[in-house]
Amino acid sequence: MNHYGRPGSPPAEFASAFPVNAIPVCPPPSSDIVDPWTPLETMEKTDYDVLIVGTGAGGGSVLWRLAQQWGNNGKRIGLIEAGDYLLPANKFDLPDWPPLSANVDPPNPLHWESFPTFPSDRPHAHDSLRWPFEQLMALGGRSILWGMVTPRMSPVDLADWPVSFTEMNMYYNIAEDVMKVNRTYYKAAEFLLDRLRRDGFPEAHTTPVAINVQPAAPGEYWSVPPRFSTMAMLADAAKRRPYDTAIKAKAVQVYAEKGKAVGVRVMDRSRKPYFLHAKAIVLAASTFETPRILLNSGINGGAVGHYLTSHSRVDALAKIDPRDYPSIPGLFAVYTPRTNDRPYQMQMRGFPPYGREFDILGSGVVESRYENRVALTPLHTDEYGMPKAVACFSYSDADLEVIRRMEQGIRQAAEAMQVTLDRVCMPPLGRIMHDMGTCRIGTHPSISGANPYGQIHGVSGLYVAGSSLIPTSGAVNPFLTIAALSIRTADYIIEQLK
Ligand SMILES: Cc1cc2nc3c(=O)[nH]c(=O)nc-3n(C[C@H](O)[C@H](O)[C@H](O)COP(=O)(O)OP(=O)(O)OC[C@H]3O[C@@H](n4cnc5c(N)ncnc54)[C@H](O)[C@@H]3O)c2cc1C
Repeated sequence: MNHYGRPGSPPAEFASAFPVNAIPVCPPPSSDIVDPWTPLETMEKTDYDVLIVGTGAGGGSVLWRLAQQWGNNGKRIGLIEAGDYLLPANKFDLPDWPPLSANVDPPNPLHWESFPTFPSDRPHAHDSLRWPFEQLMALGGRSILWGMVTPRMSPVDLADWPVSFTEMNMYYNIAEDVMKVNRTYYKAAEFLLDRLRRDGFPEAHTTPVAINVQPAAPGEYWSVPPRFSTMAMLADAAKRRPYDTAIKAKAVQVYAEKGKAVGVRVMDRSRKPYFLHAKAIVLAASTFETPRILLNSGINGGAVGHYLTSHSRVDALAKIDPRDYPSIPGLFAVYTPRTNDRPYQMQMRGFPPYGREFDILGSGVVESRYENRVALTPLHTDEYGMPKAVACFSYSDADLEVIRRMEQGIRQAAEAMQVTLDRVCMPPLGRIMHDMGTCRIGTHPSISGANPYGQIHGVSGLYVAGSSLIPTSGAVNPFLTIAALSIRTADYIIEQLK
């Protein structure tokens, strides 16, 4: 080491000028750059207390809550992630997007897995069904790309849930706290908000988002990027306790013996299999992969894979007349929640480059129906030799009625705001990315894949977190609700492992 702490001998002039034998040379600094990934060979030798599959909203929230509640208590936690480490934070916090950084496997950095979609019970229900659903495979899941819009589910929808309104509120508070949800980041475009409130939409409000608007507190050493992603949860958990993480490791099956989960079969990218043992297994691989893993494991009781839902969408482009409002409104986001009378929410959002144009995005309630589902295609296997899955989905008559009313609602809102509509259209269902419900929580296996706490019916120690848990679609962006329910599942696991 030289006197700057770098490798090499002290320079000759240093040795002659200073009494190096009297004052010892400082020891080398310990490297703070560590390889954060754990080889599957090592994980195979560990008996985990909790093994979490997937690192998106569901997996990240479970890990964070376990770490926050347990601290460094000696329990062993492992994370299994099929995707690669692509981005260290939400893409909106990175100045260079696109293209992505070099820290990815060539050729395509974003790996999406496609689930072709077929009508479930009405062959000609709607064109939007032709678009496949897609699943991003990456550390952090979809949270590295998401839009951070975080409203709570309406009490109208929560009324039928197997979780009480009071309990949901408590978990919403916890999720909002960790995700730094606030209503102040977006300004309101006051003139639009006032007009909406005055003319038929009294509940209109600024949009809540998971963007940290507080500067680092004095004395805080770590900085967290403002826009929330589960990378922040992974980092926070690592500060509280050690845990193992394998990336590019795909969970393909879970094993249960005598009604109890015992482990997960995982494959690396060379398709080498590993068997990982755990007392509790949490599948948080999202709406499509979670039921696919369960069905490929022969865990197909009750409603696993069924009740696939999402939101219907009607989007419009609105224009502000410069004679009516001469300035450019800039960045704003306002929303009208779903109410007793309106089974849809509307988001109005303007970005500076849009000038006087802004989006109106309507999200409608979609019925949870048994026939809408994720199903295996045993004759078609993937590169790991496992049967692929498809989505079977149709809108019901009630869903089509919601879409019709949502389109009317958008026109009424435009009239109230005194803006013109340029384009009104329906994005294909698979593009909306609000898929949910395939292992929904409930009290009976005939209508739900998991019990009210997220444990798969009839298999103790096997849990689900993430979008597949959500019992009914409601009309709000799902991330906050996914986080709240997944934190609640983590609390239940903590109780079971006492
Ligand atoms: C562009 C975009 C914008 C969005 N904007 C919003 C928004 O503003 N507000 C909102 O509420 N929602 C939004 N969403 C939706 C939201 O991101 C998702 O609902 C949420 O992330 C789903 O969380 P999840 O944990 O269920 O799934 P994911 O986030 O998809 O995570 C699943 C994880 O499992 C991993 N995985 C999958 N299969 C396996 C396997 N076999 N083995 C191991 N690992 C596996 C994946 O790599 C991933 O890490 C948006 C989504 C997108 C794509």
